[in-house]
Amino acid sequence: MSTEDKVKFTSNSQISRREFLTLDWQAEPSSPVRLELDPAQCTGCGLCALDCATAALTVSADTDSDTFRLLFESAKCNGCGRCVTTCPEKCVRLEGVPEVGSGNATVLFEDRLVRCRECGSVVAPQSMLRGLQSRMAAAGQNLAAQIELCPDCRARAGSLGDGLGRSERMMA
Ligand code: SF4
Ligand code: SF4
Repeated sequence: MSTEDKVKFTSNSQISRREFLTLDWQAEPSSPVRLELDPAQCTGCGLCALDCATAALTVSADTDSDTFRLLFESAKCNGCGRCVTTCPEKCVRLEGVPEVGSGNATVLFEDRLVRCRECGSVVAPQSMLRGLQSRMAAAGQNLAAQIELCPDCRARAGSLGDGLGRSERMMA
């Protein structure tokens, strides 16, 4: 492996002559970007995927098995960190540096999709609804029954309105 392969400089790299001379030339090249996610905290809201400009993060809703998945493709990630700041649960961590290449998407999070009690259409991942229910309960609102309805059935039933917002529209 050549020296060029071991040490990669970016246009922003700043290094002194002393640092250059003391570089560890045997060091392994930097590892590709790795996203770590705490599944106990993730609600499957999908906002990180909505805000990922490179589609490194995507969601899939398999309506045959009623399974929600959050997928990550390291080769598409530019390391911008937007997913880390977007995540309302602060459960995403970014490590490593971007590396152009190819690779398969890995599953970061998986959950059961909940269907509308009235019409049977997909509403949202179970964790997301549980999180919403507990937040509403903490605020003194008992709207558990309406949360398990799709937007159309909810509008017919009453007052919860557009409570799930961007995440729910993504599932539609
Ligand atoms: S760091 Fe940026 S490009 Fe990578 S997954 Fe997060 S939002 Fe997408
Ligand atoms: S934004 Fe956070 S909580 Fe929502 S799906 Fe992404 S990692 Fe999970």
